[in-house]
Amino acid sequence: MGELDRIETVDIYEQLGVKKLINACGPLTRFGGSLMPPEVMEAMAEANRAFVDIEELQQKAGERIAQLLGVEAALVTAGAAAGLALAAAACMAGADPFKARQLPDTTGMKDEIVVLRCHRIHYDQAVRLAGARFVEVGYADWSTLEDVQPFVHDRTAAILYVAKAESVAGSVPLEQIIALGYSRNVPVIVDAADELPPMTNLRRFVAMGADLVLFSGGKDLRGPQASGLIVGKKALVEACAVHNCPNYGVGRPMKVAKETIVGLLKAIELYIHQDFEARMRAWERRRDYLVEQLSGLPYMQVSPHQPIPPGSPGSYYLPAVYITIDERGLGLTVDQVEQQLREGEPGIVVDRFETGIALRVQMMQGGEEMLVAKRLKEIWTGVR
Ligand SMILES: *Cc1c(COP(=O)(O)O)cnc(C)c1O
Repeated sequence: MGELDRIETVDIYEQLGVKKLINACGPLTRFGGSLMPPEVMEAMAEANRAFVDIEELQQKAGERIAQLLGVEAALVTAGAAAGLALAAAACMAGADPFKARQLPDTTGMKDEIVVLRCHRIHYDQAVRLAGARFVEVGYADWSTLEDVQPFVHDRTAAILYVAKAESVAGSVPLEQIIALGYSRNVPVIVDAADELPPMTNLRRFVAMGADLVLFSGGKDLRGPQASGLIVGKKALVEACAVHNCPNYGVGRPMKVAKETIVGLLKAIELYIHQDFEARMRAWERRRDYLVEQLSGLPYMQVSPHQPIPPGSPGSYYLPAVYITIDERGLGLTVDQVEQQLREGEPGIVVDRFETGIALRVQMMQGGEEMLVAKRLKEIWTGVR
């Protein structure tokens, strides 16, 4: 079934003259995120066969997702970044439709969002899009709760916490931030966009007491590329829905289609029933094959060990291959190797770390590891 999908895909991209890529970099939006399972595509096709009231569909799908995950409430969004804008809007304007129309003008509303300095990320422009202002606190190298406390007060709309930054030196444990938010009656938004796997993270941050938690639907969840999920406290999730499409508000340009809602629900159903151990074993086999195939090559050191820390403490190290390159010996820079992989046949996109390239096996399709190993050997023996 997977093969058939791929052949169809090749045709449409070839017709357009668009180069097809092997994904050895993980679920990056820039390269298409992830590939949806056929069951998700079928659910989306079915959704396309009738008209429904989108708010009703959102409500029922949200209830179903919340029930599946064991959380108070859930809402489908156009992505985790859209979720950031909706969460910020909900924490400033609540569920008031008049205030929703006023945004991004925040006159008369709490509009400060407190964030640790080392938790600033490229995606957080979405928070400012809603009209919120960031108050950056703490230090890059070392922060404590005392560095945050003075800035959480009656003008604070929310505290934003990026789960993958929890293990960074300048961070403060999420538990402490949640306790602080609770004591001052300020909601805590957790950006957990790529904190999957493990599947248990879908519930973990909510169980810890976070008010709103955002996930990407187009990464490991393998839902529609332009989908995301907000889970959390009922009143705040309902407020997010007020700002979300089809209502008029900051979320109106971030449209969530009926196909997207149904597709993400199906993806979540599949995700929580998946055989994760089997998936992990397949990844490990792919990784071990690559390590074995590449180990004899000169001017490189191949390692299955991650030199950089993983995301939040509850997240997994995903199997990957780290290739440290001796640029002078090889006669090519890491940039040039990356470029040759990308521009060669087949085109391969990889991840980077300071001294080399990382091959992430999570999004590779069956057998592609052989093509990746073959291509690297060609580059290493001078077949350009
Ligand atoms: C990927 C990512 C996002 C954006 O997610 P989308 O679903 O693509 O909008 C936001 N925050 C973090 C931490 C991410 O990794």
